[in-house]
Amino acid sequence: MILKPYAADPSYSIGRQYNETKSKFRNDFQRDRDRIIHSSAFRRLEYKTQVFVNHEGDMFRTRLTHSLEVSQISRGIARTLNCHEDLAEAIALAHDLGHTPFGHAGQDSLNACMKSFDGFEHNLQSLRVVDFLEQRYADFDGLNLTFETREGILKHCSLKNARNLGQVGERFIKKQQPSLEAQLVNHADEIAYNNHDIDDGYRSGVLEYNALMDVSLFKECAELVKKDYPKIDEARRIHETIRRIMYKSISDICETSETNLNESNPKTIDEIRTLPKLINFSEEMSQKQLELKKFLRCFLYEHERVVEMTDNAKEIVKDLFDYFLSNPSKMSESFQSKSTKDEARAVADYLAGMTDRYAIKTHKEIS
Ligand code: MG
Repeated sequence: MILKPYAADPSYSIGRQYNETKSKFRNDFQRDRDRIIHSSAFRRLEYKTQVFVNHEGDMFRTRLTHSLEVSQISRGIARTLNCHEDLAEAIALAHDLGHTPFGHAGQDSLNACMKSFDGFEHNLQSLRVVDFLEQRYADFDGLNLTFETREGILKHCSLKNARNLGQVGERFIKKQQPSLEAQLVNHADEIAYNNHDIDDGYRSGVLEYNALMDVSLFKECAELVKKDYPKIDEARRIHETIRRIMYKSISDICETSETNLNESNPKTIDEIRTLPKLINFSEEMSQKQLELKKFLRCFLYEHERVVEMTDNAKEIVKDLFDYFLSNPSKMSESFQSKSTKDEARAVADYLAGMTDRYAIKTHKEIS
């Protein structure tokens, strides 16, 4: 790994909350990644919905396969820009650990339930998972990750919450940026879901090829495929098109960001934090990504089949929340707590940690 001076460097890490002896064989970011992979929250991603509810079919993305795709894209971009691949990988694998069951519907529903208890933010929840909720180590709660990984996990945060988070929340108050590794994972996340949602949407029958041709990025790539392979079937044509969209998007981000880095010529990661965001799509590609996102929102995420599925999920989350708030002793022991305010948070932690199928099973039991 050849690192530029502005890349994150584990030897100069701001460090972990609890001091630990350094590993002889792994750098601190590798260690973070390994802890994330061995966490129970990570394994549970396998049974959490990305867009299609987990039991709809075995061929759709789950939060786990989504996270793996984000990590693959992140590593590629990090390597091209000579940033720290291990850090990018750790952030990518952890970025969705705080997601509720049933995708965004689950999160919206839990947020609504938590309205009078400071709300629920999935990003903040991912940080709670790695800071407190994982209970595996003798010396501390959580995974005791480095500051840099935690900084990357906390993608958004309300100002109110930022004030309670100490150093990791400061950048939201000072309006600063995180490391380049964190910035690039955000974009890798976007590239991953835009593309795999086309794929899942098409295979589910919700999105049609002809409708996708209204999206300029899709159309220009599909036309290249048609020219090179006029006779292949539609499913292969879609896949070849997605490949090209990913290639174009990733190339664009690498080239644009490289130009930005050359222009502002930052010398350290601390400078990166004070400069405007340097990992970006070109203006033209940003517009195209936005168009694709809007298309997916209208024709996939808000499609009646998806909405019907998610409406049902919202009910489940609400019922479970009401039930456990009135019956906290029915939760797993580690989630039970004392004060009223913390009780709601404990219920949110408990619910957010559930897989789709566990939530459905529990819902059946209480109804
Ligand atoms: Mg994601």
